Amino acid sequence: MTKKLIILGAGESGIGAALLGKQQGYDVFVSDGGTIKDIYKQELAVNHIPFEEGQHSWDVILGADEIVKSPGIPEKTELMKKIRAKGVPVISEIELAYRFSKDAKVIAITGSNGKSTTTALTFHMFEIAGLKAAMVGNIGLSYARVVATAPADYYIVEVSSFQLDDIVEFKPNVAILLNITPDHLDRYDYKMENYVASKFRITMNQGPEDFFVYCKDDQEIDNYLKKQTIYSTSIPFTIMEPLKQGGFMVNDQVNIQVNDEPVIVSMYDLALKGKHNLYNSMAAGIAGRTMEIRKEKIRESLTSFKSLEHRMEYVATVRGVDFINDSKATNVNSLWFALESMETPVVLIMGGVDKGNDYSAIRELVKEKVKAIICLGIDNAPIQEALSNDTQVMVDTRSMKEAVDAAFQHAEKGDVILLSPACASFDLFKNYEDRGKQFKDAVREL
Ligand code: ADP
Repeated sequence: MTKKLIILGAGESGIGAALLGKQQGYDVFVSDGGTIKDIYKQELAVNHIPFEEGQHSWDVILGADEIVKSPGIPEKTELMKKIRAKGVPVISEIELAYRFSKDAKVIAITGSNGKSTTTALTFHMFEIAGLKAAMVGNIGLSYARVVATAPADYYIVEVSSFQLDDIVEFKPNVAILLNITPDHLDRYDYKMENYVASKFRITMNQGPEDFFVYCKDDQEIDNYLKKQTIYSTSIPFTIMEPLKQGGFMVNDQVNIQVNDEPVIVSMYDLALKGKHNLYNSMAAGIAGRTMEIRKEKIRESLTSFKSLEHRMEYVATVRGVDFINDSKATNVNSLWFALESMETPVVLIMGGVDKGNDYSAIRELVKEKVKAIICLGIDNAPIQEALSNDTQVMVDTRSMKEAVDAAFQHAEKGDVILLSPACASFDLFKNYEDRGKQFKDAVREL
């Protein structure tokens, strides 16, 4: 009998799962409690995939043989509770995609920060090496969609913890874990250990033939590895000490030592600047070496990559003041790295929707580098309370234009105006891209 596959949530991953499910002969139905974008509705219609929006037909959903759940749907919802109580198998979209791409190699990248950058950099490397690779996941087209429509030999997959929560067999050939810092804790009962365990699921089906590439300098990762066994071949990277195998620094040179073919690149030649990008570059380089990409190609890709929009993106210099758009910095840790890499006085634009942020980690850097904080959000009180003693000027603003004008007033020649919000954007903006674009528009108007 045809298997009934219900897709919950019709975003990019849900639509990809629907297309793949249909192609593989499942009886597919898509259900979205909100509205589905017109372009996706057209796609479903063209492919004869039935769907509903603005509601969930519980009886249909509970009658499924298997459910693909969108990463955006929390377990706490009534519907999910019912599904779990009935015991219907629930998988994530990456699980479905993996089921139909087992002939390909999978490089999966997760972490609290740096996923998109490292995914794009790794993809760039595989392209330079002439391999038939696809970049999929949160960063662009969904993994399932690409498996259905344009199969590749290598999938470079950006994976979130939510996607990992519902894997069963997903077994990447290379799993990269960049870092783990508090994020999305609302989805993990506010328990850090649950979030850490979720990230480590990326290794759960791996064996010795697979690789686990991880940051040795990360406290949470280090603690977990002291207590738990990982069955894959582990390759660490660090900026603290030389290693026999892995990624490390010697006298400002990045070393990638895997399979007896060392890659050495001066950190000044790397395309991506800043300490966090040393990690990202090492992670990508190690992934490349595990797949036997030659050292020349790895060097070439690490030095030629163009950075992504909204991540420490240089915008313009106006009357001697540099503007940097780091709108993608949606948590405290990414702001920490942004500030850490600053070499001149900073006027910082930050704020938005605070997911229970603890700002104490950045107090020292704020004291040392930030001459003014321009708070940009509907509720700026948490930032004002946490940081007002650490900087001389604290301004309250409610629109990007207001924030950029205020920042410019407080900056002088040689300073940097940095948008690195440490918060989500949806109080005042559609998303972080919209926030970054509005920032760039406001800068251009100065
Ligand atoms: P993600 O996809 O995980 O959200 P991005 O690559 O989009 O990560 O980067 C998000 C933010 O995190 C940017 O502000 C960037 O400067 C910062 N960042 C990038 N790599 C790292 C890293 N390895 N550690 C900490 N912060 C990072």
